[in-house]
Amino acid sequence: MFDTLSDRLTSVLQNLRGKGKLSDADIDATAREIRIALLEADVALPVVREFIKHVKERAKGAEVSEALNPAQQVIKIVNEELVGILGGETRRVNLAKNPPTVIMLAGLQGSGKTTLAGKLATWLKSQGHAPMLVACDLQRPNAVTQLQVVGERAGVTTFAPEPGNGVGDPVDVAKRSIEEARHAQHDVVVVDTAGRLGVDEELMQQAADIRDAVQPDETLFVVDAMIGQDAVTTAEAFRDGVGFTGVVLTKLDGDARGGAALSVRQVTGEPILFASNGEKLEDFDVFHPDRMASRILGMGDMLTLIEQAEQAFDQEKAEQAASKLGTGDMTLEDFLEQMQAVRKMGPIGNLLGMLPGAGQMKDQLSQVDDAQIDRLQAIIRGMTPAERENPKIINASRRQRIATGSGVAVREVNDLVNRFYEARKMMQQMAGKFGFGGGGGSAT
Ligand code: GDP
Repeated sequence: MFDTLSDRLTSVLQNLRGKGKLSDADIDATAREIRIALLEADVALPVVREFIKHVKERAKGAEVSEALNPAQQVIKIVNEELVGILGGETRRVNLAKNPPTVIMLAGLQGSGKTTLAGKLATWLKSQGHAPMLVACDLQRPNAVTQLQVVGERAGVTTFAPEPGNGVGDPVDVAKRSIEEARHAQHDVVVVDTAGRLGVDEELMQQAADIRDAVQPDETLFVVDAMIGQDAVTTAEAFRDGVGFTGVVLTKLDGDARGGAALSVRQVTGEPILFASNGEKLEDFDVFHPDRMASRILGMGDMLTLIEQAEQAFDQEKAEQAASKLGTGDMTLEDFLEQMQAVRKMGPIGNLLGMLPGAGQMKDQLSQVDDAQIDRLQAIIRGMTPAERENPKIINASRRQRIATGSGVAVREVNDLVNRFYEARKMMQQMAGKFGFGGGGGSAT
């Protein structure tokens, strides 16, 4: 969905690479290009203005970080501002203290409410809930049947007016559904309401009446991300007519520009809770502003890596390690420190998976085993400082002691020592080939 925006932003930010220091003119030029990219993607003008203002202020201000170069700093700022317009923190569904929790869906016809009801039900089930769907869209022919089909597919009960009783009153159906949910011990009720092709009074009134009847814990405004700037006006109309507590973006799998959907949060002040990106029940997820922002920036989870590098960064140690790397002076003590620094950044598989282009390597990465790394650490911790400096002095009985102390087999201690020597030799050879190591070195 956000491919074009993503491409544009990535190339703007890539132009900053390799720049030592950014002048105000560099920042202005970058901000101008980001502005165009956002406007072309249909992001609402007031949202763009605010965004650009913040980016400029922050990039020109004194946000200096030792761990990041100027380009990375701008990426970080742009990312944080994007996360900001998308709502900041991930917002979870509010569950009622006294079940059932009532979730009401509102939005235009075709926005994807009925489909969403099935997705929500599936998701709620996976979270350990016992949801029930309620068919209050009694206007559109087949809407009830469609919800029943969706409910069956999701494996949940659908509450609907009995056939043959005329059109029925959606407010009455809604009320009765809550009683039924209590009776049948459903802890969450998802109420599907009628939509129109355009906003109209009657539609709003009906939705407001259902709202008053069931007192929802959440009213979710469902909006098709493909409808462009109309998304913003529709959101405003629903906010004023019915009121809502959260937004669901649908059809994010489409190829429209989608920027309007990105403006909904900022314009209405209500958070985006879920995103739907396909017709299948599983094409659905909790909306995470941070993940969406990094997807838009098209840098894998590079940004998370930047953040974690900042946290785990220790200039002095990094320089020491770089200078030792090529000289053959590296000891098991250094090795332990390196491992600890890496582990501080999170599970190793995740870390590797965050690198751009790592997508295809997912399977191999999932085999990288944190437990294995933790065992190596335990073995090294079992050694004396002298042994860490020079593992050659570890004799057979010490190997046995270390193995017992760290809860591993002697074979693993032997393996570690052998592998350490191999790795050190390899690094020395590599250092010779590529000319690094030896004299100082830079960590960024
Ligand atoms: P409602 O009128 O608001 O209940 O909308 P529906 O749930 O009937 O959805 C309208 C159409 O959009 C249907 O053809 C759905 O299959 C389709 N649809 C819903 N959500 C998505 C989505 O996330 N991606 C895509 N591609 N289609 C969707």
